[in-house]
Amino acid sequence: MSEPKKIVVIGAGWAGLAATSHLVNQGYDVTLLEAAAHPGGLVAGWQTPGGRSVEGGIHGFWYPYRNIFNQVKALGLNPFTRFTRSSQYSPAGLEVESPLFQNEPRLPAPLGTFIYTQFKRLPLSDRLSALPLLYAVIDFDNSDQAWQNYDKMTARELFKQYGVTDRLYRDSFEPMLLVGLFAPGEQCSAAAALGMLYYFILAHQSDFDVVWCRGTVGARIFQPWIAQIEAAGGKVLTNQRVTDIVVDQSGIATGVQCGPEFFSADAVISGVSITGMKKIVANSQTLNNYPQFRNLSNLKGIDVLATRLWFDRKIDIPLPSNACFGFDATTGWTFFDLNDLHDEYHDEAHSVVEADFYHANQLLPMSDEQIVDKVHRDLTTCIPAFGSATVIDSSVIRVKEGVTHFFPGSYQYLLSATTDIPNLYMSGDWIVTRHGSWSQEKAYVTGLEAANRVVEQFGIGSQANIIPIEADEPHIQLARTLNQTLKEWTQFIPNPWLV
Ligand SMILES: Cc1cc2nc3c(=O)[nH]c(=O)nc-3n(C[C@H](O)[C@H](O)[C@H](O)COP(=O)(O)OP(=O)(O)OC[C@H]3O[C@@H](n4cnc5c(N)ncnc54)[C@H](O)[C@@H]3O)c2cc1C
Repeated sequence: MSEPKKIVVIGAGWAGLAATSHLVNQGYDVTLLEAAAHPGGLVAGWQTPGGRSVEGGIHGFWYPYRNIFNQVKALGLNPFTRFTRSSQYSPAGLEVESPLFQNEPRLPAPLGTFIYTQFKRLPLSDRLSALPLLYAVIDFDNSDQAWQNYDKMTARELFKQYGVTDRLYRDSFEPMLLVGLFAPGEQCSAAAALGMLYYFILAHQSDFDVVWCRGTVGARIFQPWIAQIEAAGGKVLTNQRVTDIVVDQSGIATGVQCGPEFFSADAVISGVSITGMKKIVANSQTLNNYPQFRNLSNLKGIDVLATRLWFDRKIDIPLPSNACFGFDATTGWTFFDLNDLHDEYHDEAHSVVEADFYHANQLLPMSDEQIVDKVHRDLTTCIPAFGSATVIDSSVIRVKEGVTHFFPGSYQYLLSATTDIPNLYMSGDWIVTRHGSWSQEKAYVTGLEAANRVVEQFGIGSQANIIPIEADEPHIQLARTLNQTLKEWTQFIPNPWLV
């Protein structure tokens, strides 16, 4: 019998773990190399020297994360909370409460989202100004053409073009962009904004419903998953930073370099973030020969900050997950009641709160003490009872350029699963896929897609079954078909204008 094919996977986030897990189960000899001390990538969790559980931000699992839910079920795990409701705060106080959309009578999308969301201050006239935007939602079908058409425009320009009021933009759309794409509207691609909003909010009434892990994702999902991978023969090696992808004279990858150590491979899968990939290219002896890898220098990551505060008393927090806007001009943040979400804090007499800040550039240089003071102040603005509580312990995690920045004009530089190196495949939440998912689910799906390319290349094993996103509702399908037909009819009319 011939030796199994050797596959090296780089990066143990959702993408790298998905690829590794599938290929190990298909009989490949897989080595997963992770630069950090803990696997999990942006979702990694670990214990402080004092024994406190911390992680690089709390992660929600939205209703449409069908592939991740499937994987977790296949592992026999039960890590999630119930579906939770959430609210939104500004410095003026409570702004919005979301119901559990799946419990409300189902209306044609996106009607339920507009009708059932409880806006405390935003006037109906402002909300109604979103209606014309529905044309762009219909027109953006996640195709390559749609991305090219909408990616050159900022999300702010898109909303302005469709007549959204200043108040609706400031109080609703921009907060969603700050939390969903980690950047303010003038720095987000309109294509990414439409894709993200459709996937999480607009496509089906229940899409905005979310569950959380009942502890760190690291402990609840990644540890048992990695144990299963290792039991099946896969190797997961931490503290192994890949410094180069080695390519022979015929342009085939022969393995990867980890400092002085070489890991040979018949195929390589990257599950590395944009920032990680840029570093590999910058140090590479070979990748700089390929324009598609040199072009990655045009891409960027966004700074985020994850903080966890332990208070000396229990504060009543109405809902477990909360998004906040209007505190800093270009930063959004969220806070979570961990006594409610995490099993280990259920019976604590003290509040444990996670507060994560997105597009947190100006916060990263602050000292830990300054950051904790700011978080305490901002929490008090939302829920005044925090003002009488004292912080007794805290954790501050800075993630420099950690998350993908889908800025206008970035689409042209994003990579697909296949590259100009025939046995080097890409995965991660920034990789172009037509699946339609976002964030963790997208990372997981692209990992499976990369694994499927390997299966296709060697003709060994079965393809991973990737569950498509739920189909568009019939009226959306009809509107898209009509729009497409109209566009086909009018395509021969010369258009001298910049599109
Ligand atoms: C604060 C915060 C909150 C978030 N909230 C949510 C949420 O609620 N829901 C959601 O779905 N998503 C959320 N996200 C986004 C989500 O975390 C990402 O979309 C997802 O984790 C990306 O996974 P990935 O596998 O593509 O990449 P990553 O998680 O970035 O993994 C890449 C891995 O590659 C490793 N690596 C990099 N360079 C090298 C190298 N040279 N050699 C070896 N290894 C290397 C890194 O160490 C890392 O482990 C959030 C992100 C943050 C930061």
